[in-house]
Amino acid sequence: MSVALRAAASPREACRHIARRDARLIAGGTLVMNEINNRETVTASLVDLASLRLRSIKIANSRVTLGAMTSMADIAAHPKLKFLKPVVTAIGGPAVRNMATVGGNLHAEAPYGDLGVALLALDARVTLETARQRKTMRLEDFYAQHRKLGAYLVTAVNFALPGANRFFFTKAIRRKPVSASVVAVAAHLPRKGKRLAGPRIALGAMAPHPIRAKAAETALDGKALDETTIAAAASAATEGSAPASDPYASAWYRREIAPVYLARLLAQAAGQKS
Ligand SMILES: Cc1cc2nc3c(=O)[nH]c(=O)nc-3n(C[C@H](O)[C@H](O)[C@H](O)COP(=O)(O)OP(=O)(O)OC[C@H]3O[C@@H](n4cnc5c(N)ncnc54)[C@H](O)[C@@H]3O)c2cc1C
Repeated sequence: MSVALRAAASPREACRHIARRDARLIAGGTLVMNEINNRETVTASLVDLASLRLRSIKIANSRVTLGAMTSMADIAAHPKLKFLKPVVTAIGGPAVRNMATVGGNLHAEAPYGDLGVALLALDARVTLETARQRKTMRLEDFYAQHRKLGAYLVTAVNFALPGANRFFFTKAIRRKPVSASVVAVAAHLPRKGKRLAGPRIALGAMAPHPIRAKAAETALDGKALDETTIAAAASAATEGSAPASDPYASAWYRREIAPVYLARLLAQAAGQKS
């Protein structure tokens, strides 16, 4: 079956296309083209976002705004986003990273979606447009609601720059140097003196989309990072998670390994200067 490719002239036009027709948005195409080529998706047309001016990285007043068409390679190359380099360089090989976009990553189902895990720990906001309105919502709410939003287009995400040595990321994989996540863990660990103040921990591949490990956050909040608090957070890590079994790992293995990777990440954070 042939698939028509249309260039969107504006976010609204892209929304109108996908609202009215049998159409899908295509950003970098690393996921959507696989689906079409493997006949997992049948669509009459693709609406290409490349002509929209959504490929940008802006930093102002300590807030970062990433346009939805910004690639993983763009983020890896930005001198002020070094804290995200371990996240984006763990996504596919160089060819995938040149194509893969921020907006696409927010729609990647587990075990993908690693940048979304980092953005969830950073309490990012998502700006999206529908044919009628523009709105901004917390990434957490976006993950919970986006299937009910109808035709929409993500235009940007934004978040506050974390302090030095306050953001951490790790990912368990089965095949080096890069592979889909067995589990991905991101932690944003602001401190007041020696105590953590409002820690945020996010997990990837532990549910259909990235989730917060809220019980682990509670175990850490207001406490110093030491062996006891790290053990308490690790033992609470998988509360509320619902991992799937796939060719990378079983759900059982994911539940076993997530606390181990969280404990290692927190031990790494504890070793950093405050
Ligand atoms: C070999 C390989 C390895 C990979 N490894 C990883 C990995 O390790 N970690 C990881 O996280 N991902 C991985 N991926 C998945 C993928 O490359 C990334 O998640 C990527 O960020 C998806 O972005 P894209 O622009 O290519 O999405 P596309 O394929 O263009 O789109 C994906 C979905 O998102 C929708 N979409 C895209 N942009 C928008 C937007 N702005 N607004 C609304 N909807 C939108 C599309 O309609 C589609 O449904 C891998 C993919 C491949 C092929």
